[in-house]
Amino acid sequence: MHEMSLAMSTVDLVVETATRQGFSKVTGVWLEVGRLSCVEADTIAFCFEAAARATPAEGARLHIEHKGAEAWCYECHLTVTLERRGQPCPQCGGFQLRVAQGDSLRVTNIEVA
Ligand SMILES: [Zn+2]
Repeated sequence: MHEMSLAMSTVDLVVETATRQGFSKVTGVWLEVGRLSCVEADTIAFCFEAAARATPAEGARLHIEHKGAEAWCYECHLTVTLERRGQPCPQCGGFQLRVAQGDSLRVTNIEVA
């Protein structure tokens, strides 16, 4: 499952970060999920809980924030925001777009104890 491997690398990352800073427990994780990432919030939350089991991140609260994708429009020469995959440029209606971000997961903050 796609989400399972994402959840496992997220757990690895937050545990490593917390440990390096001398904390033994992760109590909260803020995860930014791009709207174009095809990741289901419910699925990632479930997988995160499973992946965190028996690690310092066990029982950590997962906060999911959805983020619109940023894309560069070759027609407008502007950075525009997309809310879903396959959407045309909101300015000119064109499809000459290069997605710059919003298609991935990113840990934005962690809470440690
Ligand atoms: Zn455009």
